[in-house]
Amino acid sequence: MAVIEVDELYTPTGLIEKAKLTVPSLKEDLWFKSGVYPGFSDCHAHPHVIDAGLEGGPWRNYVEWMLKRKLRVDEKALREDLNACTKLSKLTLMLSLLQGVTLIALTGNFRANLRAVAELRERPRVVATPTIINMNGWDPLDRILPVLSYVETLDTEETFKLGIFCHSLKFTRTMEIVKCYRLAENNGLVFALHLSEGVKELRELAKLLRLPGRTRIIGVHCIEDEDYKSLGVKVVQCLSSNLTLYGRTQKNLELVESFGSDWPLIFGGFFEEIVKALKLHGQKNTYKILEKASIGGYRLYGVEHGNDYIFFDEKLEKALRLKILPSYVFVRGRATVVEGLIGNFNYDSLRKIVETYKEFLLEKYSSEGSSKWRR
Ligand SMILES: [Zn+2]
Repeated sequence: MAVIEVDELYTPTGLIEKAKLTVPSLKEDLWFKSGVYPGFSDCHAHPHVIDAGLEGGPWRNYVEWMLKRKLRVDEKALREDLNACTKLSKLTLMLSLLQGVTLIALTGNFRANLRAVAELRERPRVVATPTIINMNGWDPLDRILPVLSYVETLDTEETFKLGIFCHSLKFTRTMEIVKCYRLAENNGLVFALHLSEGVKELRELAKLLRLPGRTRIIGVHCIEDEDYKSLGVKVVQCLSSNLTLYGRTQKNLELVESFGSDWPLIFGGFFEEIVKALKLHGQKNTYKILEKASIGGYRLYGVEHGNDYIFFDEKLEKALRLKILPSYVFVRGRATVVEGLIGNFNYDSLRKIVETYKEFLLEKYSSEGSSKWRR
């Protein structure tokens, strides 16, 4: 295993100015101009969304968007294709890793995400959350419960964690949200949901779950002006999807705990998200944003971060400005990305595979001829 030495001065906040890497098989040490410890944490990603019905906006809120969007893809049919979803999960994990994501929270087809986690050798740490939603093609709670207890028995060396994701107040039955929250409380699981996406929902949620409770709630989106903090709701901001769907997002950086790429295979992934966050919240907040985008996500999900590192061949400011990806990515001390490669794949070659596969699936599961939107 490589021995990593970093400039102590910058490690407490997670930003590394200079780093030396000693690899036993190499004659000379490797030096890097910058790094981030413990790597980036993408706190909300749907790996199986390849089309989101983006035309027709801006929408007023998520209910309007969910009901009126026109999809090119038959979402239900795609979601039920375990092999296709597994491949999309794997592609998302690899693309993310190449961007320096060392922790990612995945939602969507739960079995596909689990298979990807089990089958991929090089991947970020993963928090997988089955989605509880009362629509066709999604797992209802009864189908998920047995899987939860099975997963708890797996030994994944701190690189996998389980949580529960309720879709939203409007698309998940009230009783199931309450049940899931209790389940999370009793089993020490992470609990998350889409919240306040164009409509103020905090008060309704607080009443339903009698907040603040013992278990923190991860609120994804939360673009409204509400007091999330005092009720124990931790906000994950998904800038790209908020701005695309509603033309607005949460402006108060103090309320934002961390960031999520939401639809990485549409918007390009977490690195893009950080670049957008710097634009929206201002360069003066660079350190704050990077802290939230790295250790912030680990804290949020309660995930170990020991020996997770990413290193750049350029200074961080330049890497972010010119979108230069890290050359080395370490997860739990293991070099997963080496000189910008996972095995034979670099970012560009993987990106091409993603685009070709998306086109193939859009064709195979075309919604043409079926209803314009799906429930
Ligand atoms: Zn989402």
